Amino acid sequence: MSSLGELGELGQSLPRIRVAPPGPKSREAAARLAAVESPSVDARRESREIASGEGHGAIVYASGRGSNVVDVDGNVYVDLTAGFGALLLGHVPPGVARALGAQQDRLWLALGDVYGSDAKLALCELLAKLYPAPGARVMLGATGADAVTAALKSAVLTTGRPGVLAFEGGYHGLSYAPLAACGLRPSFREPFAGQLNEHVVFAPYPESAASLATSMRAVEAALATRGIGAVIVEPILGRGGCVVPPPAFLPELRAACDRHGAMLVCDEIWTGLGRSGQWLASIAQGVVPDLICLGKGLGAGLPISACIGSAGAMAAWGRHGGSTIHTATHFGAPLACAAALATFEALERGQLFVRAGDVGRRWLTQLRARLGDAVVDVRGSGLMVGIALDGGGARALAVARRLLARGWIVLTGGVQGDVLTLTPPLDIHVDLLDAFTEELARALTPSGSKALS
Ligand code: PLP
Repeated sequence: MSSLGELGELGQSLPRIRVAPPGPKSREAAARLAAVESPSVDARRESREIASGEGHGAIVYASGRGSNVVDVDGNVYVDLTAGFGALLLGHVPPGVARALGAQQDRLWLALGDVYGSDAKLALCELLAKLYPAPGARVMLGATGADAVTAALKSAVLTTGRPGVLAFEGGYHGLSYAPLAACGLRPSFREPFAGQLNEHVVFAPYPESAASLATSMRAVEAALATRGIGAVIVEPILGRGGCVVPPPAFLPELRAACDRHGAMLVCDEIWTGLGRSGQWLASIAQGVVPDLICLGKGLGAGLPISACIGSAGAMAAWGRHGGSTIHTATHFGAPLACAAALATFEALERGQLFVRAGDVGRRWLTQLRARLGDAVVDVRGSGLMVGIALDGGGARALAVARRLLARGWIVLTGGVQGDVLTLTPPLDIHVDLLDAFTEELARALTPSGSKALS
């Protein structure tokens, strides 16, 4: 945790804002994008402006390096979102870039489930070893939603039960299998309800030791119907606002699944690979899931995901009469596999999950001490940190915009949208985190924002 000096090189630099964001080039590019993208993006911008009373014009990224992003106007930001948490190693990590360079001269695409590649072999062997029992099997995908789909399909193949138990506040992606289990907000599911799995029930996610019993009663009641084949859970809620459940939650869930013959699916797409300060949050809590989903950080920014299952949870795929009933053209693409292999190498070499734990603990302590009663809650694990604000989603959006104006990129999350969600690269310099804490303390008051502008 050495000192950064006055202003770091691009990669670990403090913000440098040349023109108030969004600058003219960003505005122009964003308007052109809005004219051809799904109208939902522009509609969201408009509704955010109405809700928060602040402009929500988009900046447009031109390049990234480490913890910094440069927009098309030349503004340098500190990226505390890291691609929705996916850029564990920051933007354009050199080791991964080198690996991609080497792979790009050899092979980009093999033949999926027909003929694999050496890169896919190496990655699958490595991923299978993450599972704490012999015989684990791996199914690769491109997105987190693909990994969740593979897990839910594995569970129904194995148990014969179509039911899924998911949690309020949970998020597993938006393609149809995970969408049916999306507990973040009903509005994600409602327009598509007629096309979704009807056999999904939701239990409350325990936000504290006090609410654990209520959650587990709902879990037991659902499992007692015997129709549930999969219980899908995030070890820590990510999009749901960085909610850390009580330590007994996952072990109790494991025991309940065992009693009722359901498969436990741990969605570690956000928490996994060091983000939460442990390699895998579920395993660190002493729980062995039947199926583990990884995505986001696996490819350092390239689209790749994985569902890792125990021998028992995966065996049913082999009994399906010889056809590969779950595959896609780009699953296991060698270029993405090469990125994932290099990501593992860098994460292990730098012991970045240990660093994320240490730096995250220090940052949480500092944020709590500095922000005090100005915020409702500061929580998280490793480098997934949520800061709950009063004033609802509108206030959180307004604070996020003030931060953007000063060169700090953050997202809002949580069921009500009232949580600033921070997922910086795992190797972010601590001086940047310290500087952010001060900036946030100022951004929390409108007078502070005036003083800043
Ligand atoms: N699961 C979790 C916990 C997530 O946070 C996300 C995305 O934010 C997903 C699954 C879906 O991943 P993707 O957006 O790559 O489909």
